Amino acid sequence: METETLEKPAVAKFASIVRAQRDYFNTGATKPLAFRKEQLKKLKNAIRKHEPALLAALKADLNKPELEAYATEIEVTVAEIDHIIRNLSDWMDPERVSTPLFFQPGKAYITPEPYGVALIIAPWNYPVKNLFGPLLGAICAGNTSIVKPSEISPTCSKAITDLIRDTYESRYIIGIEGGVADTTELLKERFDYLLFTGGTEIGRIVYQAAAKHLTPVTLELGGKSPCIVDEDINMDVAAKRLVWGKFVNAGQTCIAPDYVYVNRKIKEKFLGRVKHYIHEFFGEPQKQSQDFGRIISDRHFQRISKMVTGDVIAGGITDATTRYISPTVIDNVTLDHPAMQEEIFGPIMPVLTYDNVDEVIAHINRGERPLALYLFSNNSSLRRRFENETSSGAICVNECMVHAGHPNLPFGGIGNSGIGGYNGKFGFDTFSHKKPVLVRSYFGDVKQKYPPYDKSKVNFIKFAAKWFLR
Ligand code: NAD
Repeated sequence: METETLEKPAVAKFASIVRAQRDYFNTGATKPLAFRKEQLKKLKNAIRKHEPALLAALKADLNKPELEAYATEIEVTVAEIDHIIRNLSDWMDPERVSTPLFFQPGKAYITPEPYGVALIIAPWNYPVKNLFGPLLGAICAGNTSIVKPSEISPTCSKAITDLIRDTYESRYIIGIEGGVADTTELLKERFDYLLFTGGTEIGRIVYQAAAKHLTPVTLELGGKSPCIVDEDINMDVAAKRLVWGKFVNAGQTCIAPDYVYVNRKIKEKFLGRVKHYIHEFFGEPQKQSQDFGRIISDRHFQRISKMVTGDVIAGGITDATTRYISPTVIDNVTLDHPAMQEEIFGPIMPVLTYDNVDEVIAHINRGERPLALYLFSNNSSLRRRFENETSSGAICVNECMVHAGHPNLPFGGIGNSGIGGYNGKFGFDTFSHKKPVLVRSYFGDVKQKYPPYDKSKVNFIKFAAKWFLR
C-alpha cells in the first residue's frame, strides 16, 4: 500500500502502477459482488475514521463550515455508499432481452463488465464528494482505480490520499498527489476508463490525451448555469433557496446558479428578499461569519474581484490577504458585464431583467449548454417550455443544486458542460461496459445463409428478415 507524492514527473513509476493494477484486475479479484461490497464498506468505515482529518482539511483549504462539509461532502458520499450496497446485486444482474425467431432456439442478455483500470481526476471545490463519488462508480462496477485529487486544495489532497493508502492496496486503488506536470505524465498512460472533473479547457486536454489510447471518458465540466425567476413564485422561499445555492462554498460550485434573470414585475421585491436573506445568513460584519467560505487561490481571487463592478446592491467587499469576497449582488447587469464573460465560480450574483421569457430562452440557446438550469416558477407550461426549448445537463425547478443529491438521477453535463454522468446506478453504468451475449442452440441451423448463394437463398433471407427478425 502506498501513495505517491511526486515532485518530478516519474513516467516509469506511473507505468508500473498502471501495470500492477492491470495485472491485479486480470486476476478477476475485483469482480465478485462480495468483493465490491466489501470495498464499499471499507470506504465507509475509512471515511468515518478519517472524518476529523477531512473536516480539518476542508476548513483549511476552503474555510468550509462543518455543516456544509457534512451536507455536501461527507454524508452525501456515505449515503451513496449505502444506496449502492443495497442495490448493487440487482444492477449486476444480466438484463435479459427478448430474442426474435431468427435466433431461436436461443437466448440473449446484456451483462455489465468492468472496464479495467480507471483514472479519476478530481477538482478542488468539493474535493471529497467529487473524488469519492466517481470512485464509488468505479468500485461498484468492479474496476481498479487511480485517483488524482487537486493540488489546488493541498490539505484535502493529502487527507484523501492518506485515507486511500490506509484502506486499499495500491494494486487496487491508489491516490496520486500532483500538479499539472504529474497529471500530464499520468495521462500518457493507457487507462481503460477516464473520468475527469474540472474546467472545460482542461477537459479538452484530458480528452485529447484519452483519445490517443481510445480510452472512453466521462467529462464533468462547468459553465454558466442560468437561474430564471418568474413572477409566479413563493417569493420568500425562492429568494432563500437562491441565496443558499449561490453563496454556499462561496459560490465555488460547478452547478451554482451563475447568473439570475428576474421578471421585471417582481424584481424589486425579489431582490429585497435576496438582500434580507444574505443579511440573515451571514450577519454583520459578514466577514466574521463562520458560515461563509473563502476563495481557493490568489489567482481565482484576482479573477473574481474584477467582476465586482457596476450596480452593486449588496456586498462588493474584497480582501486579498484573506481571499475574502463578500456575498455580492449586482443589479442591471447587461451581457457585456465582466461577470457575463465566463463562469463566475465565486460569490457574485449578476442580475439581469426580462420582460418576455422568449428573450431569456433565446439568450440561453445562443450560449454554450449549461450544466444546470434553474427555474423558479409555479407555472407548469413555462416549466415545459424550458424543458423543451433549452438544453442543459439538468433542470431543477423551485430549488437550487439539490438535484445533484437525488440518488436516482444522473449527474452530468452536455456539450461544453460535459460528457456522460454518474451518481448511484448511473456511476455503475458509466464504469461498466454493457456486453451483449447471445447463446444459440445447435438446432435450427439456417442453411440458406451459407454459400454458395443462389436466388432462392436471397429470397429466403429477405423473407426471414421480414418475418423472423423483429
Ligand atoms: P481544473 O480543470 O483546473 O482542475 C481539475 C483537475 O485537473 C485537477 O486535478 C488538476 O490537477 C488537473 N489539471 C489542471 N491542469 C491540468 C492540465 N493541464 N493537464 C492535466 N490535468 C490538469 O478545475 P478546477 O479549478 O479544479 O475546478 C473548477 C472547474 O471545475 C469549474 O469550471 C467547475 O465548474 C468545474 N467543476 C465541474 C464539476 C462537475 O461535476 N461537472 C464539479 C466541480 C467542478
